[in-house]
Amino acid sequence: MAATIQTVGVIGAGQMGGGIAHVCALSGFDVVLNDLSGDRLKASLATINGNMAKQVAKKIITEDERKAALGRIKAAEKYEGLADCDLVIESAVEKEDIKRRIFSDVCAVLKPEAIVATNTSSISITRLASSTDRPERFIGIHFMNPVPLMELVEVIRGIATDDATFESSKTFVRKLGRTIAVSEDFPAFIVNRILLPMINEAIYTLYEGVGNVEAIDTAMKLGAHHPMGPLELADFIGLDTCLSVMQVLHEGLADSKYRPCPLLVKYVEAGWLGRKTQRGFYDYRGEKPVPTR
Ligand code: NAD
Repeated sequence: MAATIQTVGVIGAGQMGGGIAHVCALSGFDVVLNDLSGDRLKASLATINGNMAKQVAKKIITEDERKAALGRIKAAEKYEGLADCDLVIESAVEKEDIKRRIFSDVCAVLKPEAIVATNTSSISITRLASSTDRPERFIGIHFMNPVPLMELVEVIRGIATDDATFESSKTFVRKLGRTIAVSEDFPAFIVNRILLPMINEAIYTLYEGVGNVEAIDTAMKLGAHHPMGPLELADFIGLDTCLSVMQVLHEGLADSKYRPCPLLVKYVEAGWLGRKTQRGFYDYRGEKPVPTR
């Protein structure tokens, strides 16, 4: 039987985890938000508060809804705080060893019937499930960035995911008012399988000198009607995440067409990870973003 979900745990209070907590709380779920330190949790709660205030200003939600939603989010520095959750969504960094460690540690404190989900952009759900004590109650629930604005959520079953978990997860996503695209468990699923090679190709176009940052982004915005240029979008996603997804595609599908562009590797090695570090294909430290190439 499909379980009823009321309390949702979110592991990793970064840009995605904070967004997931935000939409869950606004949809009436109780939320427990976990990260490595109290400071990160504080920063994430402040961001959620600010983003909800923007929604109030735009009349998307009321002030009462904002207050009620914030009141439903609790911060927990330790996994023990997640013990009552019906569903836990892991949204920590895109590194398989870190995710595997999180799953083996957190499962020890969860109710046996709790569902464990991952927001991974690209890593195999079946492989991550094997680091839990409950592969049948493990699933991919992949949100898009920025979570409060994006309508789509991909739902991905691993090989062992049972029907009850699949149904409960879809009901949960619908309660968030999101539309579901079901994807099979192959590297990077649907959206990133298509999107990231496009971004990687834009970086090759820059690397080979076909165009500069401004020309490439203008070309795709005005020539293909993309709301953001591919390099602007890469900075928004995070260049480390972009590189991880390309590595997963390259290794997982063993096809050279997915090889990460050396220029993307160089930016990541420099610590120029995009908006989150204030520098990537654009420099965000001044009033207006300035291309770095
Ligand atoms: P981020 O760097 O903003 O946040 C990651 C957070 O995880 C950080 O706050 C970090 O402190 C925390 N963390 C690291 N190890 C932890 C641990 N052991 N326990 C608890 N917290 C831990 O990254 P993000 O962009 O929010 O990405 C998170 C996940 O969401 C990744 O798997 C990523 O692939 C996926 N995702 C990202 C996007 C995107 O556009 N950025 C879109 C969809 C999915």
